[in-house]
Amino acid sequence: MNLLPDFRTLRPATAAEAAAALAGAGARPLAGGTDLLPNLRRGLGEPAVLVDLSALPDFTAVAVLADGGLLIGAGATLEDLAAHPTVRNDFPVLAQAALGVAGPTHRAAATLGGNLCQDTRCIFYNQSEWWREGNGWCLKLKGDKCHVVAKSDRCYATYHGDVAPALMVLDAAIDIAGPAATRTVPVAELFAEKGDRHLTLEPGEFVAAIRVPPPSGWRSGYEKARIRDAVDFPLAGIAVALRRDGDILAGLRVAVTGTNSAPLTVAVPDLVGRPWDRESAARLADAVRKTSLVLKTTVMGAKYRRRVAQGLATRLAATLWAAG
Ligand code: FAD
Ligand code: SF4
Repeated sequence: MNLLPDFRTLRPATAAEAAAALAGAGARPLAGGTDLLPNLRRGLGEPAVLVDLSALPDFTAVAVLADGGLLIGAGATLEDLAAHPTVRNDFPVLAQAALGVAGPTHRAAATLGGNLCQDTRCIFYNQSEWWREGNGWCLKLKGDKCHVVAKSDRCYATYHGDVAPALMVLDAAIDIAGPAATRTVPVAELFAEKGDRHLTLEPGEFVAAIRVPPPSGWRSGYEKARIRDAVDFPLAGIAVALRRDGDILAGLRVAVTGTNSAPLTVAVPDLVGRPWDRESAARLADAVRKTSLVLKTTVMGAKYRRRVAQGLATRLAATLWAAG
């Protein structure tokens, strides 16, 4: 790894000051630094200014609202989130996804906002500078070709964040602060399917908080497959929220990570209103396959990652159905 590049660090005390600082040329938000700083030490970016968001008011709070929903500051650590009694009891998918991120020392520093906004990854990108230079760089940084999809004019680096799909099946929304008024969007709208620009944030904008509606009868869970169980990004991760009414599936939400340049919702309209059975499992596996665009962006083969995403989805849905 390289030494860190030179940059200035600012620590604004208000959201307005943070937005003004982030609107400046070459500025980037800094949260726990567990994704950003290792990337900078690999030469992946040269920000002029890092804007440390940790002094913003209420930025680390996890609040349970009167209606049973949550308002989570983007600076809440994943450790705190996974240990929070209401999150564990009422939103197990969120606790499981937070607990599945990296290792314990990462989670003590890593924040929810940083987890959502982490960079996309690729075996041709997350390498040392001399390795990338030796391979002629690539579209995502300094180069003009993609090593994963030859002749492509877009980058297919993969989003491997664990927590975004959990929030998506909870129907959560994100408060985005910026130079103009704060806007609130569904979690999925934070992302774009582009490996080299996968966030829809405008200059000066940052994730301020996450709003989770009350659970209202949904059962939920998260599962991921990874190479090293103790600490690793998901090769594929699946979040499921399910509502059962007797022998009928009254609601089903599924989201996938680790397969595309953004976390994606899996469309499953034809499963609601029928029982969970082999036919439902086959339809869900097919929907996951159609949603996932798995390419050779990790050391593990694409075919395995596609199959494992399908397997995780059907197993998790079956478990939640049986528990209902
Ligand atoms: P930072 O590193 O501070 O920031 C990450 C990115 O988000 C930066 O681009 C930063 O500018 C931007 N950012 C930060 N906060 C905000 C905000 N509020 N608004 C807008 N942009 C913001 N991640 C997983 O999901 N699953 C894993 O299994 C996993 N394993 C890892 C294993 C290792 C060995 C390492 C080094 C990292 C791993 N990570 C994993 C990545 C990282 O640790 C986590 O995603 C972590 O949650 C990032 O949070 P952070 O607060 O440290 O973010
Ligand atoms: Fe580079 Fe292609 Fe990988 Fe994107 S997908 S990081 S352009 S090699």
